[in-house]
Amino acid sequence: MIYLDHAATSPLLPQALEAMLPYLEGRFGNPSGLYAVGREAQDAVDAARSRVAECLNARPSEVLFTSGGTESINSAMLGIAYALRRAGAGNHVVTTAIEHHAGLHVAQHLEELGFEVTLIGCDQSGRVLLDEFREALRPETVLASVMFANNEVGTVQPIVRLAEVIREHGAGRDHRIALHTDAVQAPEWFKLDVAALGVDALSLSAHKFGGPKGTGVLYLRRATPFRPLLHGGGQEMQKRAGTENVAGIVGTAAALSIASENVDERSAGVRALRERLREGILAKVPGAQLNGCQTDCLPNNLNVSFDGIESDSLVARLDARGIAVSSGSACSNSTWEPSHVLMAMGVPIRRAVASIRFSLGEATTAAEIDEVLEALPAEVAAEGVRVEQGARA
Ligand code: PLP
Repeated sequence: MIYLDHAATSPLLPQALEAMLPYLEGRFGNPSGLYAVGREAQDAVDAARSRVAECLNARPSEVLFTSGGTESINSAMLGIAYALRRAGAGNHVVTTAIEHHAGLHVAQHLEELGFEVTLIGCDQSGRVLLDEFREALRPETVLASVMFANNEVGTVQPIVRLAEVIREHGAGRDHRIALHTDAVQAPEWFKLDVAALGVDALSLSAHKFGGPKGTGVLYLRRATPFRPLLHGGGQEMQKRAGTENVAGIVGTAAALSIASENVDERSAGVRALRERLREGILAKVPGAQLNGCQTDCLPNNLNVSFDGIESDSLVARLDARGIAVSSGSACSNSTWEPSHVLMAMGVPIRRAVASIRFSLGEATTAAEIDEVLEALPAEVAAEGVRVEQGARA
């Protein structure tokens, strides 16, 4: 198999598996236990927390372990917005039209809870409109949530600049707007330094960077008002109840440590392969059009629309040839739902339903890219004929 869907999930790193195994076997203790196996588990969680904090340039007390990116994003957005509203700071939230559904649907839920939500648009390359963002901030705004890098088209957002805009807006006011970023797609390709970014909260999902599925990280800056999403025991410094997923947490820390090393070299290597794929597609497939920003982007993500095809069918054709990629549209109940990200970018619907995302990994090779470039033109052409015949019938 040639796996080019790393934005969906990545293989578990052997080092993460090795770190986890003892906690799936003999070291089964509950970290709340006051006896030896309990303390052993607690020590492992504490060590993992310190390791993750170091990777993010945060304090250990600012790192919470969750069940994944979705929970981290839900906790950050709901937890901060709710706490600030309760403190009388306001009830307005700003986010973008191109967030992953894990953020977008939380924004809809916030509206159901009585918050006012402003969705910021983006330009044709998927970059959030800075002026629109600035103008959206109000005295009663409590939270802004903007993703670090888009999972569909790879466009990277100017988070440092957005944090500055928030600081400028907050000058002279009695509360500052909290800034959360969904950085789920970023580790491995960018050095994540929460202090340099200027964010109050940041969400990660371990399986996107070689860790296990079902674990995530929420960085929550010290003293950020927060109401837990999950209530129960006092785990995670009273901010996330529930017995810790010790093995998952240990695996997350091991994977993040590796992902945080040699980021520039890794990015440069995968960017060269992305260029090879991009150039090859543009040269060999007539009518191929690139989606997303080609400069400020994830080095591993290439989103292309192939004229006249239906993306799910092309995904199936490539799958039959042992190539795993993903489509930018979802076909449910025979109706095509184009990607909300491509729609927000102003991509015409016909092109949006014909988009394919190739997302490379560190282990992707030039030979694999060349194999894809061998298979792709014929499959796109055959799929184009199928769609045309269907349209004529
Ligand atoms: N945010 C982004 C940008 C993502 O790509 C994903 C997963 O695809 C998520 C959030 C949700 O992560 P998870 O499904 O691991 O909870």
